[in-house]
Amino acid sequence: MTKVLVIGGGIAGYCAALAARRNRADVTVVAKAPGATALYAGAMEIVDDIELVLRSPHHPLTRLGLDPVGLAAELDAAVSTLQLALGKEGLQFHGSWRTRGRYADIHGLARPGNVVPQSVAPGELGALSGKRVAVIGVPQVGDYDAAATAQALKELHGIEAFAEDISIAELPQAAALTDLYGRRAPSPRARGAALAYPPGFTNLPPDGFELLASPPSPHGWRLQQAIALGAVTAQITSFETSRGKITAARAGNRTFRADTFILATGRHIGGGLLAERVTTEPLLGLGVFHDGVPAAGLGTRLHHLKYLDPAEEMRLGLMTDKRLHPLAEDGSAPYSNLYAAGALLGGYDYSGPCGFGVPILTGWLAGQYASK
Ligand SMILES: Cc1cc2nc3c(=O)[nH]c(=O)nc-3n(C[C@H](O)[C@H](O)[C@H](O)COP(=O)(O)OP(=O)(O)OC[C@H]3O[C@@H](n4cnc5c(N)ncnc54)[C@H](O)[C@@H]3O)c2cc1C
Repeated sequence: MTKVLVIGGGIAGYCAALAARRNRADVTVVAKAPGATALYAGAMEIVDDIELVLRSPHHPLTRLGLDPVGLAAELDAAVSTLQLALGKEGLQFHGSWRTRGRYADIHGLARPGNVVPQSVAPGELGALSGKRVAVIGVPQVGDYDAAATAQALKELHGIEAFAEDISIAELPQAAALTDLYGRRAPSPRARGAALAYPPGFTNLPPDGFELLASPPSPHGWRLQQAIALGAVTAQITSFETSRGKITAARAGNRTFRADTFILATGRHIGGGLLAERVTTEPLLGLGVFHDGVPAAGLGTRLHHLKYLDPAEEMRLGLMTDKRLHPLAEDGSAPYSNLYAAGALLGGYDYSGPCGFGVPILTGWLAGQYASK
């Protein structure tokens, strides 16, 4: 039985573990803490236009060397297995990578999503058109204003929205949205309207739905709690290597031996990349690239681009070969049993239409490759 060590407890590490376990591998997941997955707004963006993605030569999905049909087949398998697994943990999701909707956040701004929690799905903006929507507010909560959200829904999306404040007397003074987390949804007076709740409540009424979040996100926290089950809490700080292979990962005085290793350590929030004057990969000193060029060799060019558009910095990351082996700066793959997945990879817009698609699919494939 192949022994696989997954380093990272976000959505990429989870999908890697799912795929490797499906191949009957003996999988251990090690994570030091929650990462970016725990902050996601609540709408998984998987992929918008495959053909467009494949025209971008450094995109992690292009680098897999799959044609559109192969990519679509792997996305089908990865996303449906993920939804099934999350369903078993009690989190139901709606949609698939082939569907796309628009969902409002707590400020009424729209965000696209392919797969969303079941509790968010009825708030798809197209489906709300022609309906009356009561935006539920809680007067004790200072960082959310239902009247402003209702106004934005009206002005930005043409939805017939109005606010209804419901007092929750037992909330602390100057309460925040986070204080609503896990409470039973209060019942409004409004009748015959769809009910938009700030995220975090439980037991929504049948006509209720949750808005998307801004960090800290109840959607992210629920997802993170579901996927973290069974992970070992430890911070990997170094590796043992021998003749082009990794043999063990070390966390303090603990040693994790395995046949294959998957690095799914995320980007800056997860800790997979270290942003200093030059961004580095801190564990193995793997190559960090921008548009196919090693970042270390770009000098001030990247800083210049970053001043013009901060998103440029977020396109930095590891590059992999077709089998998801991460590359060194010289373009070689230094370790034959090491795979990389998730937001650690560069070459795509981290907060764009593949925000979850890259971690889900590269995690899924890395898990398959590492367990064969
Ligand atoms: C605020 C915010 C909102 C977002 N909203 C959306 C959204 O609504 N829709 C969307 O599609 N995308 C969204 N994204 C992007 C998406 O959340 C990320 O791309 C995705 O969650 C990354 O998953 P990951 O598993 O690659 O990394 P992470 O979730 O960051 O996981 C990395 C893991 O690696 C662990 N780790 C790192 N180093 C070590 C080490 N040395 N030892 C052990 N463990 C280690 C970390 O502790 C963590 O568990 C958002 C991102 C942010 C920051």
